[in-house]
Parts: sequence; C-alpha cells; structure tokens
Amino acid sequence: MKENDINFNFDNSYLKLSDLFYTIQYPSKVTKPKLVMFNDSLAKEIGLNSEALKSYSGVEILAGNSIYEGSTPISQAYAGHQFGHFTMLGDGRAILLGEHIINDKRLDIQLKGAGRTPYSRGGDGKAALGPMLREYIISEAMYGLKIPTTRSLAVVETGESIIREKIEPGAVLTRIASSHIRVGTFQYAARFTSYKDLKALADYTLERHYKEGLEKENPYLYLLKEVIKKQASLVSKWIQVGFIHGVMNTDNVTISGETIDYGPCAFMDTYNPNTVFSSIDYQGRYAYANQRYIIAWNLARFAETLIPLLSDSEKEAINLAQKEISKFDEIYKGNYILGMRKKLGLFTNIEEDENLINDLLNLMNKYEADYTNTFRNLTLGKKDDIIMFETEEFKKWNNRWKERLSKENKSEEEIVKLMKSMNPSIIPRNHRVEEAIEAAVKNNDYTVINNLLNALSDPFDYIEDKEEYTKLPKPTNIPYRTFCGT
Ligand code: AMP
Ligand code: MG
Repeated sequence: MKENDINFNFDNSYLKLSDLFYTIQYPSKVTKPKLVMFNDSLAKEIGLNSEALKSYSGVEILAGNSIYEGSTPISQAYAGHQFGHFTMLGDGRAILLGEHIINDKRLDIQLKGAGRTPYSRGGDGKAALGPMLREYIISEAMYGLKIPTTRSLAVVETGESIIREKIEPGAVLTRIASSHIRVGTFQYAARFTSYKDLKALADYTLERHYKEGLEKENPYLYLLKEVIKKQASLVSKWIQVGFIHGVMNTDNVTISGETIDYGPCAFMDTYNPNTVFSSIDYQGRYAYANQRYIIAWNLARFAETLIPLLSDSEKEAINLAQKEISKFDEIYKGNYILGMRKKLGLFTNIEEDENLINDLLNLMNKYEADYTNTFRNLTLGKKDDIIMFETEEFKKWNNRWKERLSKENKSEEEIVKLMKSMNPSIIPRNHRVEEAIEAAVKNNDYTVINNLLNALSDPFDYIEDKEEYTKLPKPTNIPYRTFCGT
C-alpha cells in the first residue's frame, strides 16, 4: 500500500549485509488496533505527517497490519551475554520496518510486540500494554533529560489479550533508533558468521555511525575507541540522574551509544548505590553503582569480537584491544566527575572536588536522602523535606562547598544556571509512572500519562506548576520491583 501523505522515506541498507544477519518477517496482523499514544513532536521532528499517521491507514501501519511502500520488514539476528551467559537471541518480538531517511539522518523504525519471528524461542512475540507505555514514558523522559536514547513514536493497542502472569491487553510500540546494532550483533557475527561478514558488519557500522573512521589507519580500532567513549559518556549520564537500566545484557548495549530496551529500568528515589529494582536481578549484578563496571565488561566483550579485524597478528590485536579497554575507567571517571562538578555549580577543576562529591554522596547514603531532591534543593538554596540538611555533618560539608564555590569567580546567577541545567527538577518517579500506567491500562484514562509526559518534556525548567512531580511517594516497607518488559 502507498500512503504518500505519511511521508515515510524508507531505505533498507541493512539488507545489504549477508542474510545471516536478519530474516524477512512480516508483522502479525491484529484484530482491533487502537492508537493510544502518539508523539506529535517526534513525528514532526522526523518529517512525518502526524494527522496521516493517526488516521485509519496510518494506524494500520503502526499496528503492523499494513506495510508502507519501500519497507521490507525484517527481524534482526543477534546474540548476547544475559546475566553473564552467552545465548543466541535476535528480535523475538520486534520487526524493523526500515530506515526512514530525513535530512541525511537514517532512523530505524521498529515495531515492538509485532508477533513471532524465527528468533522468538519460547515467546509469543507479543507485548503487553503496560510495559510498552512504560518504555514510552521512560524513553521520552530520558530524551527530556538530554540523555541519548531510542525514542517512542506511538503505542497501538491491538485488541488482543496477552497471557502473562495474568491476562493483559496487547500492544505494539513504534520505536525509533539511530540503529539497532548492538554489542550482541557483533557477538553474533564473531561467533556465527565468517570473517567477511564480521568485517561487513563493522564497515556498515562505521559508515552509519562513525563515518570519519573509514579514513583512519585502523578503522576498527577507531570504532572500538568511539564506542568506548560513547558508552562511558552514556552510563555516566545515567549515574548522574539516578537511572538504573536494570538489564545491561550485551544485547541491550547499542553501538550508537543510545540507551535501549526499557524493561525493568527505574529511577532511584533515596540515594543508595546498591539499589536494584529488577525482580530477576537476584545478585545485584546491575545495581546502580555497578553499572560502570558492567558496561566495561560489556565493552570488553565488544572488543573481543573485533580481534580478527584489529590486526593480522592476533597477539597484536589482543594488545590493542586490551589497551583501549584499560582506558575505560579513566574516560568514565572524567565524564562522571565533570558532570558531578557541574551538578554542584563548579565550572573549574580542582583535585579536591572528587572528595567534595564523594562526601556529599556518603552523607546522602547515611541519611537516606532523596537523590534528585537533594540536588534540586542545593540548586534552589532550599532545605525542604530532607533530614540530612539539618545535621552538623551536612552543615560542615555545606561550608566547604560554599568556600569552594567562592573560588569560582562566577556570579550566583551563573552558578544557579549551571546547576539548573544539570539537576533535573523532576524525574519519572516510580509511583508516578505506575499511577500513569494504571490509569491507562485499568481505566483507559490517558490524561495522567500525558500530563506526566508533558512535565517530563522539560525536566530542567523548574516551573512551580510542576512541583507536585517533585514529591516523594508515601513511605512504604514494600520495596519497589520492576519486571522485564514482556
Ligand atoms: P530483553 O530482555 O527485552 O532484552 O529481551 C531478550 C530477548 O528475548 C530478545 O531476543 C527478545 O526479542 C526476546 N523476547 C522478549 N520478550 C519476548 C516475547 N514475548 N516473545 C518472543 N521473544 C521475546
Ligand atoms: Mg533486548
């Protein structure tokens, strides 16, 4: 079918890779598609016609019931280490419609929950409405927080019932990503394809994400370096806003450096480095403070896949890979300290800043302070609702901080401006996310979710109208638990 007025401009460059990397796969048809979420500003940004997409024929495409001209739907093959164990995976419930080209940008348009594929293993290929709304909210919140992320264009209810722990309404999410190439895609190539195919994947990835690397003496070394930099920057940003991804398996690590796969992720309220929300993360492998170590481990898996490409000599290749991986900690720390300094209004770099940052975090941990609201209060010069602020230990720390700020030679206005740009006033707090999803799924009331998304669209604006979103949940003894997005 052709719906010119939607303005999709599909290309399918991934099909040029060996067909070991994908299977042509049409989405399953659904009985009663109903559009429940639509991202007008994203549609506009990527040159799509919202009205046409929201019309009957547009929703048919977003539901997977009809295929737009120029799209060759595929599901992608990949592998991955899940909680440390290597497994063959692949898109078990996602179908890539194609790459939408807009202003020299190439964006994957993918339907998540669009039916079984050859990679579905025991799964039904479907997605439940609640988790798709959750991905929509958190991914758009990340975008608002200026953190690289895949984005959400739409959610369509399918009219089907999905069997999970209980019966749930089914849904399809339209995900937009600069690509879906993962560390796991390289692991798949290294393990299950030929040298030629691995090289083709690496060349494709360079062309798509790190084009300048093609001119370098060793393009694959360049690729490794850039991915390390991107992920170090990404994970340091997560840490700075209290985000816990929850399932940092290698198949959930993109080569582009975008956050992907919003399953059991959540934002931490009370600061505690050991925070884990995921119901299946028994050992805290993906706990808040472990994320920097886990990403380094995942990047080491990526480096391993590149060994055949890095040099003709395996020994030399291993040396090169190890050298780059060993730089990760320093790169990560550079990003992290820079960000944390800015959170405290510090423009310049003094060695003792690291202690200042760590001492504050230790106090927050000790007094169970809310992570976001601590920085929000420091930004606004307030002392609301946080016991830590009344302690002598904090007062001492505060004096040190004020003294440090006085060395900056910046006006208070400049300092507050910097802090406001780094410390979000609001985050998608768990109780708010749950409330929004519940209203939508149980009562078909989408006002709560849309209000929340509106608040999250600019979390740095410190508008008084949004104060309600800074409030904490009622105290409870039941720990917050999240589940993989199935
Ligand atoms: P995730 O935990 O979302 O990264 O998914 C891990 C793997 O399980 C991927 O290969 C998914 O495509 C697959 N998967 C997750 N849910 C389903 C499902 N309902 N049906 C088929 N495959 C699934
Ligand atoms: Mg995944």
